[in-house]
Amino acid sequence: MFFHVLTLFPEMIMEGLGTSILGRAMQKGCIEAEAINIRDYTTNKHQKVDDYTYGPGAGMLMQAQPVYDCVQAVLGQIAQRTGSDKKVRVVYVTPQGAVFDQKMAQEFAKEEDLVLLCGHYEGIDERVLEEVVTDYVSIGDYVLTGGELPAMVMVDAIARLVPGVLNNEESAVTDSFGNGLLEHPQYSRPQVWHDKEVPPVLLSGNHKLIEKWQLEESIKRTKERRLDLYEKWRAEHDNSR
Ligand code: SAM
Repeated sequence: MFFHVLTLFPEMIMEGLGTSILGRAMQKGCIEAEAINIRDYTTNKHQKVDDYTYGPGAGMLMQAQPVYDCVQAVLGQIAQRTGSDKKVRVVYVTPQGAVFDQKMAQEFAKEEDLVLLCGHYEGIDERVLEEVVTDYVSIGDYVLTGGELPAMVMVDAIARLVPGVLNNEESAVTDSFGNGLLEHPQYSRPQVWHDKEVPPVLLSGNHKLIEKWQLEESIKRTKERRLDLYEKWRAEHDNSR
């Protein structure tokens, strides 16, 4: 899968994505990522990408032209590389979008290419968004200074679902939200720490019993910490019986 992040701060994206698991996944060729500087697409000699908003409360807004030309150039390169005219999804990360979750990550992970557009200042001129954006996605109900962290959050959550990215593929399935619940508590060595023992069932070697314990703990934890998730899981579970 190839992530194309359109931003005014490409170095922030590449530094953020180049380390640890995602960095290794890129080296292995499981995923590809590029950060494209929208400023390279300005047509004015000062390379200005923003201007004052119309109306009161004048803030700065990213202008339509460089964003449009940048998106078109990237889509053109994708079409040339893949030799396909398949519609590529262009995601604008914005607090005004649908809130990102694991289900969306799973959906996006099916794409071959994904374009992520990062706003800055007051955001981006509405007219270009109307023409190029296919999905509006928020990472939560709060406002950040720019779209770079949201784009990286999305790339991380999506990339770890791409085959080969995680060493232990199973963990993407057993992690929280995989089955609609939060994951059960986990323990490592030593067996006793600060007078706290690892739950004896985990030392029993009885896989059936361990799985039963894990599911019970998962349900208990979800009910305690995320009643909304628990109720959704219970409704789906009851319906499937
Ligand atoms: N004026 C915009 C509004 O009120 O909806 C907020 C603009 S914000 C200061 C600048 C940029 O940060 C946005 O264009 C967007 O790309 C990004 N951004 C901020 N918060 C975000 C969030 N919760 N989710 C996704 N992107 C966000």
